[in-house]
Amino acid sequence: MQQILQEIYEEIRPLLGEGEVASYIPQLAHISPQKFGMAVITIDGDCYSIGDAQEPFSIQSISKLFTLTMAMQNDDGSLWKRTGREPSGNAFNSLVQLEYENGIPRNPFINAGALVVTDLILTQLGNAKQAVLDFICALTDNLNISFNLAVAQSEASVGFRNKALAYFLKSFGNIYNNVESVLDAYFHHCSIEMSCLDLAKASLYLANKGLCPTTQQTIVTTRQTKYLNSLLLTCGTYDAVGDFAYRVGLPAKSGVGGGILAVMPNKFGICVWSPGLSPEGNSKAGTMALDLFTTKTGISIF
Ligand code: GLU
Repeated sequence: MQQILQEIYEEIRPLLGEGEVASYIPQLAHISPQKFGMAVITIDGDCYSIGDAQEPFSIQSISKLFTLTMAMQNDDGSLWKRTGREPSGNAFNSLVQLEYENGIPRNPFINAGALVVTDLILTQLGNAKQAVLDFICALTDNLNISFNLAVAQSEASVGFRNKALAYFLKSFGNIYNNVESVLDAYFHHCSIEMSCLDLAKASLYLANKGLCPTTQQTIVTTRQTKYLNSLLLTCGTYDAVGDFAYRVGLPAKSGVGGGILAVMPNKFGICVWSPGLSPEGNSKAGTMALDLFTTKTGISIF
């Protein structure tokens, strides 16, 4: 496995620097596009990594996976009435579909869907902002994981589209709490910083039928694990989800910080980070690295 990671690193090196970093969030514009890290952790605890795998980066939309997991844990039956489960066929921050579809976001991984999910856990747990961070710290057994307050503030200062989405959702009655509180929690969740190693570890419940191997706690049921992995496969990598599934063949969630977290059920979690993004928002080198990984190992869900 280590040898394969080494080969991948060498093959993707020429791609580093390609793509655009997510400069629409001012604090993320400063990240070097040359960064590249990759980590694989098996459910038995074997760990392989390369490059900048220990360096924390902005997880951005990868946080949507953890907020959704918490919403499933606490679902009062309203989750799938308030958001759908279909790929959107639109940009992750698009407003148009919401108007046609009466304020019901297509899925929980586009921004509108994540705002609804954040609202749901805010109702159920009170302090949604801290609850998601605590959940992530427990999954990774790493209490040093934290918000990057400058990134959260930076996004809050320019996040007009997310604000528009949240108020638009409110106008359809699909945000129950104060809109600014929902946005504050959402921006903070996106600002959480984790390394590839942290994220690979945090994903292990999805590779292990819902049981976290670190804490031996049941995070979700086997059935909910199936649901989460299926949603990742069909909705987790923006409006490039078909191409991503074709090339990589693993359930995955990407974020505009350049991270991609993927899961091989019953085997391992894998995370790659490189900040240069495709126009859809997926890490270019990261997608290539995962494509090479499943090709070279012959391991994917298919
Ligand atoms: N905080 C980012 C936004 O809402 C997250 C986007 C992403 O990673 O997809 O625009």
